[in-house]
Amino acid sequence: MIWNEYIECLDREDLNKLQGKRLRKMIERIYFNVPFYRKKLQEQGIEPGDINEVEQLKLLPFTTKQDLRDNYPFGLFAVPQSEIVRVHASSGTTGKPTVVGYTRKDLDIWSEVVARTLTSAGAGKTDVMHIAYGYGLFTGGLGVHYGAEKVGATVLPMSGGNTQRQLQLMKDFGSTILACTPSYALFLAEAMQEAGLTPADFKLKAAVMGAEPWTEEMRTEIEDKLKIKAIDIYGLSEIIGPGVATECTCQNGLHIYEDHFIPEVVDPETLEPLPYGQLGELVFTTITKQALPVLRYRTRDLTRLNVEKCECGRTLVRMEKCLGRSDDMLIIRGVNVFPSQVESVLLEMRETKPHYLMIVDRINNLDILEILVEVDDQFFSDEIRELENLKKRIRNKIETTLGISANVKLVEPKTIERSEGKSKRVIDKRKIKKTGGTS
Ligand SMILES: [Zn+2]
Repeated sequence: MIWNEYIECLDREDLNKLQGKRLRKMIERIYFNVPFYRKKLQEQGIEPGDINEVEQLKLLPFTTKQDLRDNYPFGLFAVPQSEIVRVHASSGTTGKPTVVGYTRKDLDIWSEVVARTLTSAGAGKTDVMHIAYGYGLFTGGLGVHYGAEKVGATVLPMSGGNTQRQLQLMKDFGSTILACTPSYALFLAEAMQEAGLTPADFKLKAAVMGAEPWTEEMRTEIEDKLKIKAIDIYGLSEIIGPGVATECTCQNGLHIYEDHFIPEVVDPETLEPLPYGQLGELVFTTITKQALPVLRYRTRDLTRLNVEKCECGRTLVRMEKCLGRSDDMLIIRGVNVFPSQVESVLLEMRETKPHYLMIVDRINNLDILEILVEVDDQFFSDEIRELENLKKRIRNKIETTLGISANVKLVEPKTIERSEGKSKRVIDKRKIKKTGGTS
């Protein structure tokens, strides 16, 4: 089923016209209401009214997370505070949080795009929607919540944590659709097994998951363990929250809601726009948001766009499942390395769990990569020789996949810290040394 068939299946020419019209109005709004943008546009010699077409986006300045921080808390808002009805914030790993605001109309748009998202995953009025994203300042919980109500599903606002209770209510209330981070879905699956429960004890049929990058192998594992369809959803609070893009049941790229968010893919070094199909950094311009419109926001997420019509009938452009963030990319001995590559290797081996920790250090001017890997319960009791063999196989596979060698250390099951939200996969000691910080 398609929630908004008119927009989701609109032909590209009509969509471009609509985007152009909305972009023009958006530029006017930020020029007259946000001093930060007025100054930036004036520096480029751009007046409101100059921009009428999507193709002109490339003439416009970018916005970064640092710009949001510099204008903390409300400096980039384009409406008076009396128009703001909700504020969310994301805790940064360093410094001040990123603050985002919504008008009543923004919240309506948000519910609309999340309703499209959940419908894409097969949700409808008869579903019981189990929301295990955190509620509060984080956009995950409340963002999915209102979209689920709009669809007409029965909503369980569980929030994160308290895994035993999550399982109990999921079972007793007959939850059919789960919303959480992929790492938490795996955590739930493990807890389910430990409690002696099987997927047959539940009514789950699908899960919508996002807020952290995850691999195809992780998807297979989640689908297998929970016997569900795992749908990738994409969003970030700076753009609106969850509901920027989502997979349909074809699971072949995420449809972006282009009538609200115009995507571009740019070269992360030169910032030049790249043609469809090329890998680069994803950039968004919000064209309908009132409270916090953002112009060419650099997401740091790496992906490519596919403009071909999808089998599901939607014409909205698809972004490939995110391959990682340009921020997460580690440069080790000059080679670009993503944690997701290590995850792929581990998920292919039946003796290991997808729980790992990469420790990067620099010793005598040489980068050293050590990977701690959890071994599955049933294999850990095996003889030393078997474990040595396994270690060698992982080391070889890592070397072919990453293009660099790593010291692999096998550890007992459940020794690497579990997280109920986003997981920490990397400790880069080189950074710690450079900044002199402690964490
Ligand atoms: Zn589709």
